[in-house]
Amino acid sequence: MSLLVVGSVAFDAIETPFGKSDRILGGAATYFSVAASYFTRVRLVGIVGEDFTEKDAAIFKGRRIDTTGLERAAGKTFFWAGRYSENMNERTTLATELNVFADFKPQLPEPYRKSEYIFLANIHPALQRSVLHQVARRPKLVALDTMNYWIERTPVELRETLRHVHILMINDTETRQLSNEHNLLRAARHILELGPKVLVIKRGEYGAMMVHSRHAFTVPAFPLEQVHDPTGAGDSFAGGFMGHLASTGRVNEAELRRAMVYGSVMGSFTVEKFGLEQLRNLKRSEIHRRARHFSKLTQFTL
Ligand code: AMP
Repeated sequence: MSLLVVGSVAFDAIETPFGKSDRILGGAATYFSVAASYFTRVRLVGIVGEDFTEKDAAIFKGRRIDTTGLERAAGKTFFWAGRYSENMNERTTLATELNVFADFKPQLPEPYRKSEYIFLANIHPALQRSVLHQVARRPKLVALDTMNYWIERTPVELRETLRHVHILMINDTETRQLSNEHNLLRAARHILELGPKVLVIKRGEYGAMMVHSRHAFTVPAFPLEQVHDPTGAGDSFAGGFMGHLASTGRVNEAELRRAMVYGSVMGSFTVEKFGLEQLRNLKRSEIHRRARHFSKLTQFTL
């Protein structure tokens, strides 16, 4: 099954207690598509500027990533700069330069319109909706990510878009902000009234929680001795999650739970090194080994 993603392809400047990088490849759609491509074919929709070279584009080569929908425009590629706190639980955005992203109007190439699995990464909610309008038939699964920026600035647009998605995947701060509720289960109940059938809450080093009308399910974060750069963990999680579901072609409770594990596995690889360094060099056997390790980690009898 083909998986469509729309979102940012970027250059990032990142500062963590372990290092600093002035300009490395990043972007939500980049992390997502590389992570998901270990599971299934991915169709990428995004935009880059003239400064995005063949060498940068090499990240997508040799993988199951179709970049027909990656537009090239005059100007500079989206740029984001962030700094992490000592314990890496907090992140300050130092700069967001939209550049070519400012006038981005996602256009789906004809074959993309039949995609059945769709991930709307963090962009303006109206643009997310415009992607759904271009899809020819009813997709099997639509998941969406958003952030405080859109929750604060475009609440009406966001609510309208949420009516059309099955899964909302956000972090705990965004969950609280969107619902005006501190308790995550109560927050989830509010959010599920807005349209999504499933809420996936990403909680960084505390793992992730999935809530829908009948069940809640949690996974821990994979225990790691070294975390170097949390950038892209959420998008890699989403890539593993959606990639797994698209690869099975089934959306049911058991597969959703496995998707949570594969999401956590992909997030855990990303944070171990800077940028895409670890994510881009994985073997499928390593992914499955870590998934099995997860199973052992959480097994118990009563
Ligand atoms: P994450 O750490 O999963 O939240 O994602 C980090 C990635 O999101 C970085 O590589 C950034 O380039 C990208 N990013 C940061 N801010 C934005 C934004 N406002 N819109 C789209 N992408 C963004």
